[in-house]
Amino acid sequence: MSDQSLSGLVLRLQSGFFYVQTEQGLITCSIRGKLKQGRLNADLVAIGDHVQVTLSSPNTGAIEKVEPRKNSMVRLAPTARGEYKQIFLANLDLVIFVFACAQPEPHLRMLDRFLIIAERQSISALIVANKVDLIGEKKAVQLFERYPPLGYPVLYTSVKTGLGILKLKNMLKNKITAFSGPSGAGKTSILNALQPDLGLKVKEVNKVTAKGRHSTVVRELFSLDGQGYLADLPGLRSLALWDIRPEELDAYFPEMKGLVSQCQFNNCTHRNEPGCAVKDAVKNGKVHPDRYQSYLNLWAGIKETDW
Ligand code: GDP
Ligand code: ZN
Repeated sequence: MSDQSLSGLVLRLQSGFFYVQTEQGLITCSIRGKLKQGRLNADLVAIGDHVQVTLSSPNTGAIEKVEPRKNSMVRLAPTARGEYKQIFLANLDLVIFVFACAQPEPHLRMLDRFLIIAERQSISALIVANKVDLIGEKKAVQLFERYPPLGYPVLYTSVKTGLGILKLKNMLKNKITAFSGPSGAGKTSILNALQPDLGLKVKEVNKVTAKGRHSTVVRELFSLDGQGYLADLPGLRSLALWDIRPEELDAYFPEMKGLVSQCQFNNCTHRNEPGCAVKDAVKNGKVHPDRYQSYLNLWAGIKETDW
């Protein structure tokens, strides 16, 4: 056995094995036993992780070390032995939320919730407004106009006419991107338009995962013509806001965080307190009432199923 150590990027997880891209090609790896000690309540390795591997043959090896993550998309799964932290994807550069302009109607309350998750993890977010052909560009822009001033760019696309697809392709270059959104928004169609069969491949991976038990879970970062990687984030609805306390929510609303210091009470929750700068801003149109309502809903801890 060679003790040569290689660094690599974890691209695929299947049946307990990890496929790691290194300068010597794709290496199929298990996890070195010493990594497992005392860490049974969370995934040890996730796709998107930068790892150190040692080879046991030209194309097999063991993961010795996982580099610290700059961010991750996490879900807390209840198990008989307590909560288990599933890591969907690590070290993202960009997260894309795809919504249709119509069919189905965009659920902006859900989008607001997704954006909080991105803010919490300090991941740049891009909103893709698809099916522009159904309502026209002018109406589409009106629908999402509250977001660009907050720092969330909106890209208008139509798979039917090709609008925005090339632009999207360029925005993914040399990044690790997560792709998500409600069913029917057109994610599969967009991925197929970006790269032949990419949507189908993503769908296949999700099918296996949806059916399978833990041991058959498949997750994959797909290469984009060698210029970046993309992974689907299935079931984003279930991505918990588990590590966000209500009191810190205002920090994840870009239009609110600068106002908080002007509230009369320094522990103001912006719900019922007098002298609240956030409520004033809602009244005079500086904070969108629907965004404020999203804030109130999140504060009240409304469950995922209510979104
Ligand atoms: P997913 O569930 O998000 O993967 O959505 P799909 O890609 O399966 O698309 C759902 C439906 O919307 C399909 O019937 C697509 O043909 C249709 N669709 C996708 N993109 C567009 C678009 O830009 N315009 C229109 N009119 N229909 C679209
Ligand atoms: Zn306040």
